[in-house]
Amino acid sequence: AKEPVRILVTGAAGQIGYALVPMIARGVVLGADQPVILHMLDIAPAAEALNGVKMELVDAAFPLLKGVIATTDVVEACTGVNIAIMVGGFPRKEGMERKDVMSKNVSIYKSQASALEKHAAANCKVVVVANPANTNALILKEFAPSIPEKNITCLTRLDHNRALGQISERLNVQVCDVKNVIIWGNHSSTQYPDVSHATVKTPSGEKPVPALVADDAWLKGEFISTVQQRGAAIIKARKLSSALSAASSACDHIRDWVLGTPEGTWVSMGVYSDGSYNVPAGLIYSFPVTCRNGEWKIVQGLSIDEFSRKKLDLTAEELTEEKALAYSCLS
Ligand code: NDP
Repeated sequence: AKEPVRILVTGAAGQIGYALVPMIARGVVLGADQPVILHMLDIAPAAEALNGVKMELVDAAFPLLKGVIATTDVVEACTGVNIAIMVGGFPRKEGMERKDVMSKNVSIYKSQASALEKHAAANCKVVVVANPANTNALILKEFAPSIPEKNITCLTRLDHNRALGQISERLNVQVCDVKNVIIWGNHSSTQYPDVSHATVKTPSGEKPVPALVADDAWLKGEFISTVQQRGAAIIKARKLSSALSAASSACDHIRDWVLGTPEGTWVSMGVYSDGSYNVPAGLIYSFPVTCRNGEWKIVQGLSIDEFSRKKLDLTAEELTEEKALAYSCLS
């Protein structure tokens, strides 16, 4: 039998956490033959709710779930974890300045970085979900210098999946037949959902999405804004944020990272930029990546037209500003 893998979820008593932990316990992330031990962290005011989630996990009698740690102690939460899904964060509240939100999150991610660095298992993989996700991940990377930078990522898979969903609806094809969309940049409204290289599987072979849609104005306009604004549309409809799809795509992110992407398919991940596609090095930026043997690699050599170039640069500029703001909060 396989040794259990320890998976940390921070902010586990929150909305996304509540949707995410049962998926993990059912084997959605690492497969139906991989036992898991869940580490759930939340802050003291959420301790009782967190214990309620633990009770439900016991009640669900998941065969793969070999243990549950529910704690408000960050060291206990981080000890021995192989995978860390960072969902906890200070929420945007009405009337709060961007800098105030940033400041709160920077200090959270700085302290959690130290705990992970000291106590997580070697080669622990980290994905940050909490906003501002890219910049939180960057702070985590900076304050956990012994964790390899390739192990620290942020979630843009939800945006990626949203783009697949929009193309599937528009073309009236199955979402599993659409692939290779790209989310570039920040997990924010400046992200660039790009279908220039996306394809659809049809009975007569793979066809490029731009040719099938045959509506450049829609692809450059409404498609992009729909994906960018989808989170807000869901809040409006549900009066709550998109926790189900955020949780599901966090599972997709980890699964593909650990188990690999299918041949000929890439996914979007926020990763530490090495300067590929002239994106400034040293930002956590969403790129198209393939994964193999537990490591991601940025897809190289894709053509970038003038329209795309502007969009890639705009979202990079926003991330550069966020980085400066984050650092100003630290000093
Ligand atoms: P959610 O579980 O809905 O969201 C958690 C984080 O994920 C937020 O930062 C949210 O950003 C972000 N996020 C990223 N993508 C999405 C998406 N598609 N849909 C929704 N959220 C997304 O928040 P809750 O308030 O329910 O839960 C947060 C938990 O974190 C609570 O249990 C709380 O106690 C804990 N917490 C921990 C802190 C700490 O560790 N020190 C500090 C504060 C809270 P956005 O805010 O932009 O929606």
